[in-house]
Amino acid sequence: MSILEYMKILLASNNDHKREEFSRIFDTHTIALPRDLSLAFDFEETKETFTENALDKAMALRPLAPAGWVVLADDSGLCVDALGGGPGVRTARYGQKPDGTLLESGERNQYLLKNLSHLTTLEERSAHFVCALALVVNEHRIYTVCEHVDGFIAFEASGSTGFGYDPVFIVEAVGAPMATLAEGEKDRYSHRGVASRRMKTILEEIEL
Ligand code: IMP
Repeated sequence: MSILEYMKILLASNNDHKREEFSRIFDTHTIALPRDLSLAFDFEETKETFTENALDKAMALRPLAPAGWVVLADDSGLCVDALGGGPGVRTARYGQKPDGTLLESGERNQYLLKNLSHLTTLEERSAHFVCALALVVNEHRIYTVCEHVDGFIAFEASGSTGFGYDPVFIVEAVGAPMATLAEGEKDRYSHRGVASRRMKTILEEIEL
């Protein structure tokens, strides 16, 4: 097996759901979060594109990565046409409590539904999830991909799989909310699944 078929991948994230999804998709590789290696990693995304944020995040973690580990960063978010493409790169910070702290995931979904309540047809509620990935294999092998999945914001939350906005995002190709799909099925359609497969294709083409 080439080293690109079995990599130790350090994910620039503290999100267990993302780890779970990447572990399923990159199933011949080992995926770890910084805390699994006793690393403290907190990164503020400041750029206006998912790709720049993913690359910045990966490059910020790289100096902390132990020898033999490659770094993968994911910057993802929800772009709603009726919100001018928002919350977009600010998806993780969408909706705040009166004291300025972030809403819980379920509350955030309700906040989004409330903000779109005046839109009464699915067509008006079109949206897409975006996922940018940055993979730093070494100083001179750095790959980025950015993919998306089309859909609509539902009229109410439903389903219990996945995380974040999955209960309110109807996947256009399936006609059902992401959170009603089985986990493997989510990967077939999701922005993260599509981007990851693209990244795997790039890795397969590399000659060491
Ligand atoms: P970040 O990539 O850590 O900046 O944050 C991504 C934000 O988008 C979080 O608020 C997630 O809840 C949301 N998000 C990203 N990917 C997904 C997904 O696959 N399903 C549902 N929500 C997601």
